[in-house]
Amino acid sequence: MKIGVLALQGAFIEHIKMLRGLGVEAAEVRLPADLVGLDGLIIPGGESTTIGKLAVMYDLMDPLRQFAAEKAMWGTCAGMIFMAKEIGDGRSQHGQPLLAIMDILVDRNAFGRQVDSFEADLDVTVFENGQSAPFPAVFIRAPKLVAAKGDAKVIARLADGTAVAAQQGKWLATSFHPELTGDDRFHRYFLQLAGGG
Ligand code: GLN
Repeated sequence: MKIGVLALQGAFIEHIKMLRGLGVEAAEVRLPADLVGLDGLIIPGGESTTIGKLAVMYDLMDPLRQFAAEKAMWGTCAGMIFMAKEIGDGRSQHGQPLLAIMDILVDRNAFGRQVDSFEADLDVTVFENGQSAPFPAVFIRAPKLVAAKGDAKVIARLADGTAVAAQQGKWLATSFHPELTGDDRFHRYFLQLAGGG
């Protein structure tokens, strides 16, 4: 099993450490050739506008879409925005490059600014049928998952019902940063998706 982490900008080192801690081979991805031989790819948190611009600059957009058509992909925070088919709050248009693969509508910075970063305990439906301990989620200028459509399903919500994680086949999207906690359950779940089950 070999997992890549898109390393253009943002919190990619933390994902690499988490994966290596699980005994998995982890590689930084900066060029299309780096995708060869990977079983899955994580797109980290950071600034989705910057990640998008750099992905265009390095000719990664189509190779990333082709990769996702066959393999597991997981976007955390900015990565979730980058994977979404639609972003916006219904009031404004955002002209940033998106992979536009997941059937989710995402509202950037919907929880407020940096000072509004927070932690919350989540029940995640896909962890042992929701019977396991709550997942400690860290939100940093996080996007809200406004809607999951088609085959995309919401797998975690805040206590007020706000959706914050979704799955669509082998694709995962989380508003928050599991790589910044000591809890590796999301990473282990992603490895299951990448391994075909
Ligand atoms: N606010 C960032 C964006 O819109 C995401 C923040 C993060 O990844 N922690 O891209």
